[in-house]
Amino acid sequence: MTVYRAALAHVRLLLGITALGIAATILIEQWTGHSTIPFALTALALLLVNRRLARFACPRCGSNLFVRERIALPWPNKVCSECGLDLAAKAG
Ligand SMILES: [Zn+2]
Repeated sequence: MTVYRAALAHVRLLLGITALGIAATILIEQWTGHSTIPFALTALALLLVNRRLARFACPRCGSNLFVRERIALPWPNKVCSECGLDLAAKAG
């Protein structure tokens, strides 16, 4: 798996947790009138999963896939913003 594919899987996981968290928050809000707990759990889950973010770095220069020109974006680079390495093409 390329680092780009791993980063994309990470983004999908974050989106999945966010969607589940929003659904749970809305449902529990309607059932009980209290949405603090599912909201807090969602925020905590996102925080924990996002600790993996630093692992998605260019194998040649170490630049993070989610950072372009020092700006962090929620979608990974296909081509390294620092050294231009094609992160999606390399097998491994
Ligand atoms: Zn690079």
